[in-house]
Amino acid sequence: MSKAKILDGKKIAADLRLQMKAQVDAMDEPPILAVVMVGENEASRIYVRNKQKAAAEIGIICQVYEFSDSIGENALLQSLDELNENHHIHGIIVQQPLPPHLNAQNILRHISPSKDVDGFGLYNSGKLMSGENGGLAAATPKGILRLLEETKEPLSGKLAVVIGRSQIVGRPLAQMLLNMDCTVLIAHSKTKNLKELTKQADIVVAACGQPQMVKGDWVKDGAIVIDVGINRKEDGKLCGDTVFDELSEKVSWITPVPGGVGPMTVAMLLENTIYAALHAEKCCCHCGH
Ligand code: NDP
Repeated sequence: MSKAKILDGKKIAADLRLQMKAQVDAMDEPPILAVVMVGENEASRIYVRNKQKAAAEIGIICQVYEFSDSIGENALLQSLDELNENHHIHGIIVQQPLPPHLNAQNILRHISPSKDVDGFGLYNSGKLMSGENGGLAAATPKGILRLLEETKEPLSGKLAVVIGRSQIVGRPLAQMLLNMDCTVLIAHSKTKNLKELTKQADIVVAACGQPQMVKGDWVKDGAIVIDVGINRKEDGKLCGDTVFDELSEKVSWITPVPGGVGPMTVAMLLENTIYAALHAEKCCCHCGH
């Protein structure tokens, strides 16, 4: 029988969208999010469609800018310059993965910090490093912090093991948890005796993209488990990086896959877009924007 309480990201994100809709309705003009897509990628197309749908639901306009996968880096940077300078656009994201001939770091760093609603640029990730969790922080880790808030457990002093050190999840999340006074351990593919480390943790975040790697005997009783992984099993079903059924008999809180972290990521992207619109510089050409 399941002992764990479920961190229902789907419901929390739906509640947040209702609040955000009221916030957008009260704004003079709707926030506009520019999504840059390069080349054809079926998964990216689905992600972008989901973002557009969620944005439309709360009154955010989502404009997709599609480029051929033969576009050169300079041409793409120039297009980003135009979006950066366009006062009608409040947030910009570049959908990943990018074709291999493009340097993703260069491209992400080119987005103006005030429009960097994914929070992957140097300014916004640097803010996290200097101890500030607010503003335009990366959406998935921000969504995870919201889920942890739902537990009403104080984070200060807790030992958190974050499995994964990617730029988009593991690293920014570890920094956010550190900023919340957790003691943080970041694990990765070269970490030795990982199970011995996770067994000590009060919070385990699995963000390694390894289907069902974290099993019931990897965690201690009463731990909080956040599963970020989205993996497809051989039978076509989705699974996370943990074995939900085993863990939910032991831990105090756990996120399901799907319906846990995923919906929170989209909600936090929208929240960042609203933040960017509210903090946008005003245009000085007297066009009213
Ligand atoms: P990356 O592939 O960029 O990073 C994976 C990380 O996990 C790396 O740091 C890697 O280590 C580490 N890792 C891989 N294998 C192991 C292992 N056996 N033991 C310990 N660490 C390991 O993935 P992302 O961070 O982009 O995504 C992680 C997962 O989260 C994926 O399943 C992805 O689909 C999902 N995801 C879900 C989101 C959501 O909204 N729910 C959003 C973003 C991602 P090393 O650095 O040494 O290679």
